[in-house]
Amino acid sequence: MKVLVPVKRVVDYNVKVRVKSDGSGVDIANVKMSMNPFDEIAVEEAVRLKEKGVVTEVIAVSCGVAQCQETLRTAMAIGADRGILVETTEELQPLAVAKLLKALVDKEQPGLIILGKQAIDDDANQTGQMLAALADLPQATFASKLEVAGDKVSVTREVDGGLETLQLTTPAVVTTDLRLNEPRYVTLPNIMKAKKKPLDTVKAEDLGVDVAPRLKTLKVTEPPKRGAGIKVPDVATLVDKLKNEAKVI
Ligand code: AMP
Repeated sequence: MKVLVPVKRVVDYNVKVRVKSDGSGVDIANVKMSMNPFDEIAVEEAVRLKEKGVVTEVIAVSCGVAQCQETLRTAMAIGADRGILVETTEELQPLAVAKLLKALVDKEQPGLIILGKQAIDDDANQTGQMLAALADLPQATFASKLEVAGDKVSVTREVDGGLETLQLTTPAVVTTDLRLNEPRYVTLPNIMKAKKKPLDTVKAEDLGVDVAPRLKTLKVTEPPKRGAGIKVPDVATLVDKLKNEAKVI
């Protein structure tokens, strides 16, 4: 069984992003970019399935600018066998990515597609669900445990009241939650090996997909600055302030 793992190049989670002065978006010039953390978890899970002998090939795919190749090389250093770059300079929204991935699913026929539950830049949490709908595949989102037995995939999800376990028949779409696994560190020898793995590039238009944005960002603003805290001398003052200043009780 083949596994397809979509990996997104996003601003590194350690970077404190700045809103552009004209409020049109976030400034990403000269900012460290990395693989979306949930996608690292997805690659790790796919590679573990391969190590268990359940999966024969792990294919990483990234949609975006040429620099997404670095993200694909990271996926291959974790253990993916090959990479596909769907190259475009258009701003890609989740629906466009889902359509591109659907075209690749038709071509590659993977038994499993493991995506991150959300990209930490736009926090959309839509691509996996849209892909499942477009490709008419069963889906299990926010997986905290994944087991494959034959053509059945069992996925445990953390829900409000506890744990829910779903069983899907492959081919299926799964999205990863934080507790699914802890991705391995990429070692230098594996980074070197990854440089030799195959990486194909296709243009978005060659997949016959219209990637034009459907949503328009009207304004991006910083969250309001938090004021400094104060020390109160006693409980009575605290209660008074909560009642009359903060008006929360
Ligand atoms: P989102 O719906 O944008 O929050 O993204 C959810 C997941 O979809 C990510 O964790 C990735 O697995 C996948 N994804 C989103 N955008 C891309 C992209 N440009 N290239 C590859 N995978 C993507």
